[in-house]
Amino acid sequence: MSRPIIATVNQQALEQNLAIIRKKAPDANIWTVVKANAYGHGISRCYQALSSADGFALLNYEEAILLREQGWQKPVLLLEGFFKAEDLVLLDRYRLTTSVHSEWQIEALANARLSAPLNIYVKINSGMNRLGFRPEQLKDVWRRLAALPNVGEMTLMTHFARGEEPDGVTEPVALLDAAAEGMALPRCFANSAATLWHPHTHHQWVRPGIILYGASPSGHWQDIADTGLQPVMQLHSEIIGIQQLQQGEGVGYGYRYHAGSAQRIGVVACGYADGYPRHAPTGTPVAVDGILTRTVGRVSMDMIMVDLTPCPEAHIGSKVELWGEQVHIDDVAAASDTVGYELMCAVAPRVPFRIL
Ligand SMILES: *Cc1c(COP(=O)(O)O)cnc(C)c1O
Repeated sequence: MSRPIIATVNQQALEQNLAIIRKKAPDANIWTVVKANAYGHGISRCYQALSSADGFALLNYEEAILLREQGWQKPVLLLEGFFKAEDLVLLDRYRLTTSVHSEWQIEALANARLSAPLNIYVKINSGMNRLGFRPEQLKDVWRRLAALPNVGEMTLMTHFARGEEPDGVTEPVALLDAAAEGMALPRCFANSAATLWHPHTHHQWVRPGIILYGASPSGHWQDIADTGLQPVMQLHSEIIGIQQLQQGEGVGYGYRYHAGSAQRIGVVACGYADGYPRHAPTGTPVAVDGILTRTVGRVSMDMIMVDLTPCPEAHIGSKVELWGEQVHIDDVAAASDTVGYELMCAVAPRVPFRIL
């Protein structure tokens, strides 16, 4: 038998989330974003459920090749583009669509010897100041790329820095509209937040990530509560020890928590070496045998402690949900001053996965 911690990927929820996104953006094609090994869920565990997507978007070649080896023939988009000129050989062999965000990439495309033109996404920096050409460069960059025999179809791409804010896309959209004036270009702008909350940015292609996996781009699950989106990942473990505390006794490293009165606590086989956030404070939500309670004391490498006051029936072997259907990953993340994205991606290799 193994340690009781286990992560579950609910393929049905994933498939249903994609269907919900399809309804939200009925006229757009969908790039399902599976970077970071499908936000920690595992590309190979998600591939089947996402097979009705129009394309997969990701960052690294290994993941792109894995998809090709699974038999995926539709587009694959490299969100960060290619990293070295010599990588174009791989893009050519596996027919990968690439973003182009820097001058050197134009030169590399001009000089490469390819078997057929590559489709590209011209990435414009609309304010985030991460990757991309400045809007005023668009016309010149577009003209030069369009003249290259190695370049096939071209799409205009940007990424929003503040897509979750009500007014967060107004300025970037205005910048792009101005830059692309007089040009009828296919566009791909919308991440999850814009897919949900800024439908005028859907255009030809959307790029949802986090909502596929059932968490909120805003970090507040309440913001997606009426969408039907379901959490795909669950992290479960069990109570492996119980302590009966006397009033005033401390718990865990540094005694970060003291019992205010006599109290029963449970020890859960899950710690930061499993990917549980070390900064989760006392009070972070957790469920024991279906009853919501809270963590107490500091998260240690392999264990956390939980308050069993609301769960008098709890015993060694009781099921614990760290996040999933009852405990929102967004709430665990918020308590720990992070986002659901990070928690999903951080589930450690030592945690076994199963598919539901
Ligand atoms: C990660 C990423 C996305 C998806 O973002 P979500 O907020 O998860 O929807 C879309 N586009 C780009 C360029 C990204 O890097």
